[in-house]
This record gives sequence, structure tokens and C-alpha cells, in this order.
Amino acid sequence: MPDNQWHIGDVKITRIVEGETRGPLFLLPDATKENIQAMPWLQPHFADAEGNCIISIHALILETPSKTIVVDTCLGNDKERTFEHWAHLQTKFIEDLTNAGYPPESVDMVLCTHLHTDHVGWNTKLVDGVWVPTFVNAEYLFGKTEWAYTEEQLSNPMYEEFIVDSIKPVIDAGLVRFVEVNEKICSEVRLEPTPGHTPGHISVHVESNGKHAVITGDMLHHPCQMEEPYWECSADWDTPTAQKTRVGQLGRFADEKILVFGTHFATPSAGTVVRKGKHFQFEV
Ligand SMILES: [Zn+2]
Repeated sequence: MPDNQWHIGDVKITRIVEGETRGPLFLLPDATKENIQAMPWLQPHFADAEGNCIISIHALILETPSKTIVVDTCLGNDKERTFEHWAHLQTKFIEDLTNAGYPPESVDMVLCTHLHTDHVGWNTKLVDGVWVPTFVNAEYLFGKTEWAYTEEQLSNPMYEEFIVDSIKPVIDAGLVRFVEVNEKICSEVRLEPTPGHTPGHISVHVESNGKHAVITGDMLHHPCQMEEPYWECSADWDTPTAQKTRVGQLGRFADEKILVFGTHFATPSAGTVVRKGKHFQFEV
């Protein structure tokens, strides 16, 4: 576990991995094997010598003096999904979370950086054929703007499948609080707007005893976007907004030496952004 744990002042951050995969990064058409090989600094953590990208799906647990907060809830088990690699999973995620000291009933808050299928999955679990909230004692925080947009996508089957089994059940159970993009969650944790990947996308800023960390969500999918923040991502809702957000935030991360946690960055997941001329790189 030490490899997957960090301390930001009084806040302990723990990473629970649902899965890591290696291969081409289809979301970024420019991330060809040749282009990835031309960024040797990505090896060995985020790419291999053949130019394959390594991607993770994980949750980050923030333990503050007053709250235990789960940030992003991965894909979940038993879900019916169009993308077959994400369908009917049977991972040990909840066992791993419990073994790390966070049984689901101990969680006070669940926070989703945005409402996509790989960030909301463990919001619910299947019990006797019914989707029920996994974190029964938690308040689930969803962005107001994000939900307003997501709800409009119900007619899109790619959205409908996860809205129905991973979002609606927690709303119906009365566990959701809709929050602003700059909401303060507790003394050490606040949200920051990072639109582009989705309209209401947020990042999570942790500050304690003068130390800072940011969880980026899908503002960045892979560290190669630090060197090439203008590469188009097919999963982004609005490309110019996403590019502007990426460039602005990367500059700030580098200047302020903030510890950056990617939501899909492979082990070790966290590091610092450094300037290399007009570009950026990730140091872990
Ligand atoms: Zn994602």
C-alpha cells in the first residue's frame, strides 16, 4: 500500500486500482506508437518501449481530519455496457477498499469529477437484481452543471446505460447533493472548474498545512497530453475549451509545484508538472 498512499499535510490520499491496461490510446488519434516513442520520458510508468500507453482506472480516497471522501468510482461490477471490456466486471475493488481501511459504510462523501461511465460505476452495486447505493452513509456530490447536461443525454444509449444503473438509483435514494463547480467541500478540499472534457467537469484541490495537490479528473487522460496539450481527444465535449483548460492548468501546476494526480495515470499516478520550453512533462 505505501506505493499507493500520499500525505498532503493532514490529508491522507489512498489510491484503489480497479484495473490497468496497456495498448493504443484510441481517445487521442495523434498518440500513435511513433509519437509516443518520441516521448521517452513517458517510460517506464506511462508507456512502454513499443509505444503502447499504460492507462489506469482507479479511485482516490481522501481522508481528512473530518471526512472520508471517495473521488470517482470507476466502472463497477456486473454492469451491462456497450463497450465489452467494461461489461460484467468482477473485480475485487470493494475488498481492496475495505482492506485499505475504508469499508463502504465508513465513507462520508462520494465525489465525481464528471458523470461518465468510468467515474460513476461503484456508485451502485447489484443486490438481488436491483441497483442500490454502495456507500449507504455517504452524501454523493454531483456538479449541478454536469447533471443538467448529462440528463439531456438520456436518449443516447451510451449515456442511458450508466445513468439508469449508476446515477438514478442514488438520486432516487435521496443521497445526492448537487454542487457548484467551485464548491468548498470541507476545510481542506475544494472543487475547481475545469470544463472541456464535459461542460461541468471539476478538478479536486486539496490544501493542508501549506501543501497542495490536485486531482485532475479527465481534463488529462494521459501524461502525453502534457507535452501535447493541443492534441484532440475524441471524448472531449468541446475541443477548444478542453485545450484552453489543459494549457492554463498545466502552467499553473508547473509554476505552483502542485502535486498532480491523474485519474487515469498509471502507477505511480502522482507527480509534478515541469516546463520544457513551450511544452510540459511529468516527473514522478
Ligand atoms: Zn475517464
